[in-house]
Order: sequence, then structure tokens, then C-alpha cells
Amino acid sequence: MTTILETYAKRHPRSAELYQKAARAFPSGVTHDIRYVPPFPIFVERAEGSHKWDVDGNEIIDYVMGHGALFLGHSYPAIVEAVSQQITRGTHFGANHVAELTWSQLIRELVPSAQKVRFTSSGTEAVMLAMRLARAFSERDKILKFDFHFHGWYDAVVGSRFTEQYGPRSGGVPPEVQSNTLSIPANDLRLLEETFATNDVAAVILEPTGASWGTLPLADGFLAGLRQATERYQVLLVFDEVITGFRVSPGGAQQRFGILPDLTCLAKILGGGLPGGAVAGKEDILNVMEFRDDPSWNTTRRVGHAGTFNANPVSAAAGCAMLSLAADGSFQAHADVLNDQLIRGMNQVLERRKEPGCVYGFSSYFHIILGQDCPRPRDGVEWLEVAGRRPPAMNRGVALALKRGMLNHGVDLMGLSGGFVSGVHRAEDIEATLAAFEAVVTEMQAEGLL
Ligand code: PMP
Repeated sequence: MTTILETYAKRHPRSAELYQKAARAFPSGVTHDIRYVPPFPIFVERAEGSHKWDVDGNEIIDYVMGHGALFLGHSYPAIVEAVSQQITRGTHFGANHVAELTWSQLIRELVPSAQKVRFTSSGTEAVMLAMRLARAFSERDKILKFDFHFHGWYDAVVGSRFTEQYGPRSGGVPPEVQSNTLSIPANDLRLLEETFATNDVAAVILEPTGASWGTLPLADGFLAGLRQATERYQVLLVFDEVITGFRVSPGGAQQRFGILPDLTCLAKILGGGLPGGAVAGKEDILNVMEFRDDPSWNTTRRVGHAGTFNANPVSAAAGCAMLSLAADGSFQAHADVLNDQLIRGMNQVLERRKEPGCVYGFSSYFHIILGQDCPRPRDGVEWLEVAGRRPPAMNRGVALALKRGMLNHGVDLMGLSGGFVSGVHRAEDIEATLAAFEAVVTEMQAEGLL
């Protein structure tokens, strides 16, 4: 019997060869932690729509989707056109330009709490700016986050990912810096109130559909309770909508749930597949960045913010095209339906194969757990029965086998065990993915990996 690992090596010889070079060029041979897939990750050559092709000529259905940025798939024609036109007119003016105005106008029309906007170049930078604004506005230092919620790699918000042991997530973050960040489990409103009552918290930040793009869903009523508590204690509420923004509805999670934060961090879909981020929110908070006719304000109180590529014209062109196309909600509705079919179909595979595990998700993302007992969603994509409870974490060896096995069958998952469905995935993609999943579960069982 050929193992999944042997097949993986056989199908991807050119990727294996290139990885030798990559390992000399980059730490662990990768340029983003999540792309680290031992014994070697694949190298991709080109992509179109919901598919991509690796350097060995394998065609792959893509659920990485630019880490969630490519809501309209690879090289969507209207975005390609907008970017191409912009490149011929200039890539950086070092000045205000009309496309950044249009881009901000689209954000303000779509995102319910966005009164004013400031652009950055990434989600991490948007979080950095939101934290600085919240601290300056409130004149408090402490940030409250929730365990396992991911907000990029900025010092003030590092923490563990769900599958890692709890503790500081990164070397190089001084204890003094860490002491200004509190982290508590989500879904516990009593603990939240206690934390607010005993600490001078400037802001609380969270992923509004739960930790690590919904891996740990929030309990019903938690967001509403959180909003009320922040108002009582005058703590700013920051939604990190880097993943959920424009995806779970045209106005993000805040529109879908009808709960408005004070500040919102945006990136990914915002940039139309190019680098881009933004902080949007209440005018009086954003205005802490404004220059005043008061030297002491400008030098000691004002929040400074620079960034060579903020609102660069090429990202602005891509972002405007993306947000215009995503404004009426039809692509979101399409992606949500296909995601629902994928989740239902994968759970049926687990039933058929009598394999413990579950597949769950929300809107247009999904997560897979194999080899662990967990309740399966009976009712669509919402993980109703266990919302607010912690699902079991998948063993890393099992997750790696799943990732490699799915690639052997022409499907690339986001990270090891999840994915983003885009507005351009098709019913055939879902069917082929379900067939691949059934084949991989069967192979894993035969190999004794499950
Ligand atoms: N917040 C969330 C919720 C994210 O998922 C990410 C990236 N995956 C970030 C922030 C950081 O964004 P970026 O990678 O653009 O720095």
C-alpha cells in the first residue's frame, strides 16, 4: 500500500526540489507560519477563479483563497482590469487621490459603524492602529482580548492558537509589554465584568464570529452582553473584522448581528486581493489623529500614523472593484449556500465512514475535526449544539495527513483543516471536494491514521 505521505512526495517532486532552496532562503522555508507543511509545502505557479496549478502541473481546488482575501477567487476579471488600468496611470502618487476617496466611501456605505476611515497596509497594522487609537482616546493602557482569538502578529495581541498550549505565543515580546494585555476565555460575561471592574481597560478586541475565524464559535448572546458591558464600563469595543468584513455580510459581522463596535479592523477582502487594511469607526475616536492648532496636542496627545503604502492607488483600485462587486450580497449568498453544502456533505461522509469528527463553520468558512468525538451540526452551518463550548482540537499528525491527502486529491485547505469558499466556487468544485474528502478519510482509516 502506498501511504498518503509517499503519494504526496510522488505527486510533487518539483515542489520538493524548490523547497530545498526555500529552506536555505527562509526560516523553515516559508514566508508565513501557516504555510509550513512538513515535509515540504507545494509551490503554486498560477491560479484562476477557484482553481490553482502547482509547479508539478497538478490542478487544485483552492480553499486558501489568499488567506481569505480572494472573496471573488483568483484574478477576477473586473479586478484585473481595474488594477491593470491603475498600474499604467501610476502606482504611488505620494499624495491624496480620488480612488482612496471612493474606497473609503464604499467602506462607509457598507460597514454600519464606519464614520471615518484610515488606511493601513495589512490587518496587523490595522490592529496596531486601533490599539493605539483606543489607548490614546481612553487614556488607559490595558487591552483585553479573548483566549485563542487571533489578531495578527503585533506584540500587544499575541496569544496562543487553539491547538497550541496556552501561554505567550511568541518569543521577543517583553513581559512589560505583555503585562498590558489581559486575555480571558470568551463567553463568560461574569468574568468579563469582573475584569472590567478590577482593571482600567482601554479596549476589548475580538473576532466577532469566534476565535481563529470561528474555530471556537461564540455563545448566543455573548456579543450583545459584551456590547452592554463595554458601555457600562466605558471600554471601547473593537471588532477585528479582518476575516469577517464583507464576507459574512456586505457590512461584515456587525451588520449580520446588528451589534456595532466603536472601532473595526479591516483587511483581506478590503484590498481586493492586494495588500491593504483599514481602521474604521467613530469619528471622535479617529479624530484623535487630527492635527490641531495646538502644539501641545500635536506633540503629546495626537496619535501619529504613517505608512508608505497606505491607500496606495493599486490596492485602492482593486479594493474599490471588490467592494463594489460585494455590495449587494449576492456573492456572499452564493458562497454561503455552497459552504453549507460542503459542511453537510462532509458530515455525511463521516457518518458513512463511521468516523468520529465533525465539520462546522459559518457563512462561507468551514473547519474540519477528524478522529475526535464531537457533535455534528444538524441544522445548516451554525454549530448550534455546541456554540460557546470548546470543540476538541485535532491531533497535528492527523491534521497534516488530512492536508497532504486532500492535496493528493487536488484540494488545498486553508491551514491544515479548514477553508474559505468564495463567490466564484461552483457546484462542481463542491462535488469534487466531497469525493476527495471521502477518498482521504478512507485512506487515513486504511493507514491506521484515524
Ligand atoms: N486579524 C485576523 C482576525 C486575522 O485573521 C488576521 C490574518 N489572518 C489578521 C488580523 C492579520 O492580518 P494580516 O495578515 O493582514 O496582517
